[in-house]
Amino acid sequence: MADLLPYVAGQPLVDHHCHGVLRRDADVATLESMLSEGAGFPGGSVFDSQAGFMFRRLCPPVLGLLPHAELGDYAARRAELGSTEVSKRFLVAAGAAVLCVDTGYAPEPITSPAELGDLAGATAHEVVRLERVAEDVAAAGVGADGFADAFRSALATRTASAVGVKSIAAYRTGLDLGAERPGDSEIAAAAGRWLANADPGPPRLAAETLQRFLVWCGVDLRLPVQFHVGYGDSDVDLDRCNPLLLTPLLRAIEPTGVPVMLLHNYPYHREAGYLAQVFPHVYVDAGLATHNLGARAPALLAEALELAPFGKFLYSSDAFGLPELYFLGAALFRSALSAFLRSGLEEDLFTEQTAARLARMLCAGNAMRAYRLGDQM
Ligand SMILES: [Zn+2]
Repeated sequence: MADLLPYVAGQPLVDHHCHGVLRRDADVATLESMLSEGAGFPGGSVFDSQAGFMFRRLCPPVLGLLPHAELGDYAARRAELGSTEVSKRFLVAAGAAVLCVDTGYAPEPITSPAELGDLAGATAHEVVRLERVAEDVAAAGVGADGFADAFRSALATRTASAVGVKSIAAYRTGLDLGAERPGDSEIAAAAGRWLANADPGPPRLAAETLQRFLVWCGVDLRLPVQFHVGYGDSDVDLDRCNPLLLTPLLRAIEPTGVPVMLLHNYPYHREAGYLAQVFPHVYVDAGLATHNLGARAPALLAEALELAPFGKFLYSSDAFGLPELYFLGAALFRSALSAFLRSGLEEDLFTEQTAARLARMLCAGNAMRAYRLGDQM
């Protein structure tokens, strides 16, 4: 891999969307199951992929091994160091100064935002998942008529110190959400249908009217709203996750000035770039896809930045569970950004001074401004 431009290598990142890391050690089976969104398959390894080869190229040296170490040797070295030391090494090597942590997904025990921040030597903030709050409100036993007020009040409490909210409508109904703010009687009717038909066990929200209501509640609190867009696991119907489906809702939110963050976006990163260009409140990233594309990450970033204004692109890892993914996301973003800026310099599109300014914006400054994080670096 080519040397990084110095102002890309040394620039602390704001990772505006990530999750906690595992509290336990990761053996080979765990590494296989958590490397990507993909499922393992008989007779093969998920490490035979762009993400896998980049993992094996970049991660072993962080643990004192040679590049391309065999997975068994790598897992043994991991066990020797212990999960806390391994997490610390990768999180520090990622070089993030600020982390915005989505706390709504925890299929097994993971670190809290404060613990993640301590391991990384970074300031950590919380991003609250809207559906999770709604499901907690339902589980507490609210009736259909009381749902709207109970949710509004629960969300206000849960987000008292949060920097944003997150919608996973993409995973539940798809992104074809209406634009209008639903009225209280419409919400009560939809909540009644949801609560009456909920399966036994924790209620799972998947109702267009209610997803839209949740988003508007985040807007009313003037918190940046993150949307999962595009690439995800097999629970996503990818054809219903094109960000262009959000156009009517984005148009309706625009007058409020509340930022909307389109996360991941792959393979719709060009569509997302278009939306960031035409709507002043829309921001985009290429998180999750960056480390999954491995050696192709520079092509992804270059495509995402075809239309997206450079002041509207944010960095995120969307890492979950494995500390290696925070490091890989950061390393590949830096190398893609460095290649992008270097080719602009070679073509005399901008000066070195401008390249350094763009690096500060894309790595950190855009996120600091959009989330109003103040002077935290
Ligand atoms: Zn995520």
